[in-house]
Amino acid sequence: MGDHCEQTMRRLNTYIDRELSETEVRKVKAHLDDCPPCEQVFDFQAEMKRLVRKECCTDDAPARLRDWVRQLGTEKSKPAG
Ligand SMILES: [Zn+2]
Repeated sequence: MGDHCEQTMRRLNTYIDRELSETEVRKVKAHLDDCPPCEQVFDFQAEMKRLVRKECCTDDAPARLRDWVRQLGTEKSKPAG
């Protein structure tokens, strides 16, 4: 993973939450167009956020989702912060 990838990964959450400035958004977009691995991570995270938002509004059993999210957490195996 190059420097650009690392920077993009760091911005990704902010990007998904649409809290980046226009310049930053352009940088992230340009990198995603250029770098399929990062684009995949972006797609995945964006999709996950969508799912979490959707599931949070329903009453019944997001257990599968919780399992999934927990799995993701362990796969990353990086301590938060
Ligand atoms: Zn990249």
